[in-house]
Amino acid sequence: SLSGKRALVTGSTSGIGLAIARALSAEGAQVVLNGFGDEAEIAALCEELGATHVGADLMTQEGCERLMEEAGAVDILINNAGMQFVSPIEDFPVDKWSAIIALNLTAAFHTTRLAVPAMKEKGWGRIINTASAHSKTASPFKSAYNASKHGIDGFTKTVALELAQTGVTANCISPGYVWTPLIEGQIPDTMKARGLSEKEVINDVLLAKQPTKKFVQPAEIGALAVFLCREEAGNVTGANWSIDGGWTAG
Ligand code: NAD
Repeated sequence: SLSGKRALVTGSTSGIGLAIARALSAEGAQVVLNGFGDEAEIAALCEELGATHVGADLMTQEGCERLMEEAGAVDILINNAGMQFVSPIEDFPVDKWSAIIALNLTAAFHTTRLAVPAMKEKGWGRIINTASAHSKTASPFKSAYNASKHGIDGFTKTVALELAQTGVTANCISPGYVWTPLIEGQIPDTMKARGLSEKEVINDVLLAKQPTKKFVQPAEIGALAVFLCREEAGNVTGANWSIDGGWTAG
């Protein structure tokens, strides 16, 4: 059980982050939510999970610092907030590159550096970063995303080594395609970049990568996060766990 543990999940008002928050809460953790969305819906989520919510924008250093201040000392830090943009490199908007590196990579640096002192003091902590199959392999038209996800893999391994003797573990979870608003949002641009229909993008681009021919379910990622938080996972550190229907095996 994770009762008595305080868990911060970034980007947890939607998709994978919400599923991880639900799974940790079901194990008894006290959850702090983060992310954008409709106020009434967020209030309902807080009620459902007995959670609190900090709506800080993690694209900025100030936002990250405010989040960590308002969340207080956490035992479990899940760096999950992320975004995608699909474009050929020669047209890739410079502001999108900066935004993706800021949210997908630099935010985890800020939250981690601020969470580690309390974890070290307690002699226990779990840092889990939602990376991606794109932290291990690439697809075209996702230069910023793939760079950010390869970056978070290297960052996580470094933190794991630095904290190896402190009782704090750091790992990545690397999903393949999971049906969330992030995936839905990239379909129109992928149709444009590759000249395909929506159905062709889903079957010939997305699911073509996954030998199972199925989208990964958010709740399956929640279950993996719960395992990594257990005492039995104390020797799992610096790992990058695929949950991608076999994608990166091929
Ligand atoms: P999503 O769009 O459903 O959720 C993103 C969450 O991040 C939301 O809660 C949103 O409010 C929050 N967010 C967005 N911008 C933010 C900001 N500036 N500051 C704070 N919060 C912000 O996306 P998802 O698919 O659940 O993705 C979550 C993570 O999983 C991302 O890091 C993504 O790269 C990764 N991932 C997703 C897939 C997939 O197939 N969906 C696959 C591999 C990895």
